[in-house]
Amino acid sequence: MSRLIICLTLLMALPAHADGFISRLLNKPVPGGVAVLALGDAAAAPKVTYQGKRVLVVREEGRQWLAIVGIPLKTPTGQQSALVDGKAVGFKVGSKHYREQRITLKNTQQVNPNADNLKRIERELDEQNRAYAQFSPRQPSNLMFDKPVDGPLSSPFGVRRFFNGEERNPHAGLDFAVGAGTPIKAPAAGKVILVGDYFFNGRTVFVDHGQGLISMFCHMSKIDVKLGQELTRGGLIGRVGATGRATGPHMHWNVSLNDVRVDPAIFIGHFQP
Ligand code: ZN
Repeated sequence: MSRLIICLTLLMALPAHADGFISRLLNKPVPGGVAVLALGDAAAAPKVTYQGKRVLVVREEGRQWLAIVGIPLKTPTGQQSALVDGKAVGFKVGSKHYREQRITLKNTQQVNPNADNLKRIERELDEQNRAYAQFSPRQPSNLMFDKPVDGPLSSPFGVRRFFNGEERNPHAGLDFAVGAGTPIKAPAAGKVILVGDYFFNGRTVFVDHGQGLISMFCHMSKIDVKLGQELTRGGLIGRVGATGRATGPHMHWNVSLNDVRVDPAIFIGHFQP
């Protein structure tokens, strides 16, 4: 009897532990990164929220439930917690240094827009924020994403940006150095939830991969999908371009989890600590 009690005590003292493929790939708990929380193997999926937003929950093959939590870039290092079926589950956020980048733009409207452009920017931001906030019940087809274009990575996620010497929002996505016209393919299956032509982002497509995991592709020269279209993994989305605020043709890709923009490099195995 006393042995049984000791064993139970030990089990409860052990932290929830995730060591499978998904955790090794995605658990990068830094600002702008992802925390993978192990949630046990109950029959039903636990409901998880973080900062009031629903969180992606997946079941590892034959194993336990995992919450895949997006961590905002502004998060301080230290303890954070998510709510799992109403109970707090803690995780630790480490530190990461993001470097600076200075960009010169000839079009000063793209640095200090006039009142008309500001109105347009605000409207477009609202529209895009509503897309990021969506949460559909579908399970993502794959969490290890395919690269959306065949080419080298360029500007990383999270870089602090100064346009003509003035600091603006940090880089919310990952750039690929590829030429105009390069086909952009869906990194996982999904549904097209927004198509637009925006002041900063140019021609833009949002793809919902399921449960708040959302990709955004922008600065495109050509869009090959329609609103509401279902895409298979690898399906053609459009072509690389330089529309919106871009110094030249490249592909810009955002990845969002629980309405938080996180480093897309994590999902293609290119995370740099
Ligand atoms: Zn970019």
